[in-house]
Amino acid sequence: MLSAAHAADKPADTVYRNGYVYTVDARDSVQQALAVRGGRIVYVGDNDGAKALTGKKTEVIDLQGRMLMPGLIDGHMHPQSGGSRLLNCSLNYESLTMPQFQSRIQACIDRDKKSGADRWLVVVNWFQQGMLPDGVETTAGMLDVLKTDRPIIVRSSFGHSSLLNSKGVKVAKVERDTPDPAGGKITRDDKGNATGLLEDAAQDMAMNLLPPLTVAENLAASKAALAAMRQQGITSFLDAYTDPETMTAFTDLQKQGKLTARAHFAVLIDLDKGATPQSAVAELLKQQKQFDQGPTRVAPSMQVRHAKLFMDGVISAPAFTGAMLEPYLVNKGTPEKPDWQPGASTGPASYFSQDALRTTLKELARAHIDPHIHVDGDRAVRESLDAIEALRATPEGKRVRPALAHDEIVDPADYPRFARLDVTPVLSFQWGKPAPDTLGALKDYMGPQRYATVEPQALLLNAGARIAYGSDWPVDPLDEWFALKVGVTRTAAPDAGKEYAGRLTAQPGMPRAEVLRAITLNAAYTLRQETQTGSLEVGKLADMIVLDRNFFTIPAEDIANIKVLQTVVGGKIVYQSKGMR
Ligand SMILES: [Zn+2]
Repeated sequence: MLSAAHAADKPADTVYRNGYVYTVDARDSVQQALAVRGGRIVYVGDNDGAKALTGKKTEVIDLQGRMLMPGLIDGHMHPQSGGSRLLNCSLNYESLTMPQFQSRIQACIDRDKKSGADRWLVVVNWFQQGMLPDGVETTAGMLDVLKTDRPIIVRSSFGHSSLLNSKGVKVAKVERDTPDPAGGKITRDDKGNATGLLEDAAQDMAMNLLPPLTVAENLAASKAALAAMRQQGITSFLDAYTDPETMTAFTDLQKQGKLTARAHFAVLIDLDKGATPQSAVAELLKQQKQFDQGPTRVAPSMQVRHAKLFMDGVISAPAFTGAMLEPYLVNKGTPEKPDWQPGASTGPASYFSQDALRTTLKELARAHIDPHIHVDGDRAVRESLDAIEALRATPEGKRVRPALAHDEIVDPADYPRFARLDVTPVLSFQWGKPAPDTLGALKDYMGPQRYATVEPQALLLNAGARIAYGSDWPVDPLDEWFALKVGVTRTAAPDAGKEYAGRLTAQPGMPRAEVLRAITLNAAYTLRQETQTGSLEVGKLADMIVLDRNFFTIPAEDIANIKVLQTVVGGKIVYQSKGMR
């Protein structure tokens, strides 16, 4: 860090003046000007002070009142699958009629002249629940009318179902007498024949036939991911479930000077295949040794300091793999006269037993690795907090920064435990809106009491939790500004349709300042980067963005329309739109 006196006597590389400089410092103070030298912030204050740092070679940027703020830090995303989906045939998460669905896929087939009849066509980002009209059947037949001999797989954006054409069904050997695999379902018609729709683990029958990404495809995916991030204003991210191929691709891009965000990677800890907590952590450390580049520095680099653990699946139908304290409700009446009563299932046993989780967390703590745990149902949350409570009682457990990702349903008794145990919930704000997956069925099988607490963003905040944001891209499109809007309003997009008007449940939204803190300083905390990034303060890295409108003064719904005009990482402009010049 530079002393004030030293900072004052040398001109800055860049000075931003006449701005609404939103700092995310301890007081959320707003300043007028900011100066950068050597990739770090050397001044934040008024125009006059910045003038003293303006030399002959200083570039002066007149913000003309525009908002400058810390770069966005996405605390949970899947950049490689996000990036590769940008390169696939994509249905863009849109609600489509059957003719639209068909013509979009035909266009992809027609564009790709090189692929032979054996090569799978992979179609992604299919908004299955949004097909029009409501309840329209989706079967292999819908794809068989397309002009192609290739096998086709259409993957839902949720990741829980895939539709194959008849050729795909044949190639994947989904036959009449093929039993449903564990954790999956082959959808069948009245006669017992596969319809082409595969649910959950049954998708693997086709997915396992897709060739892994080539080195070139991996590189293209990382490149596409970084381009999307720059445009959104993301300057640091956590890959919440990585692999060596992904880290190799990002390393290669870095060597070419094309790594434009600070990259963090979480390695999966999976005790399924005979691994022990010790051997799984040893494998993680091996990957860390290969790919981690040490402490944060001015130029973006790669860090491997997180472990990913799954405690459960998802609370949504038809999977019901979220681990719940109380049973999912089932309809014991008729479709016309429903009678929702507790059923037999509370979801699966947690994927880690309490013993295994405690041992794993302890091993990770010893290795200075922070756990990032997938928890969707309230039992998964409870059991993770229990294990963290035990960890906190050990000497090595005190320095750990555990994060619990998703937290779609949390028992209110557990809200205060996040603050007490210093556990950061990493939330995807965009899930807290009326949508096909949050209305109707979810309400029915959760029952009114639990449903009132879904997506408990403000409820956790009000209980003192440090909330961080993670997009979970590509489960949803990468649209951080829409997500922040939903964090404030808990409403869908204005064009989402009448049935999705209004707020999700009676819960309040989060205050705007808290929403921004979640995607800046609090996410930086989960990456152990908060002394370097996440706020605009003297001595910190110049990771920042210029917005086309003021996040704080526009109507809340307009937050979704914010465009980033300039993205700066370590003092270097990595993205600039025409609007900036
Ligand atoms: Zn995820």
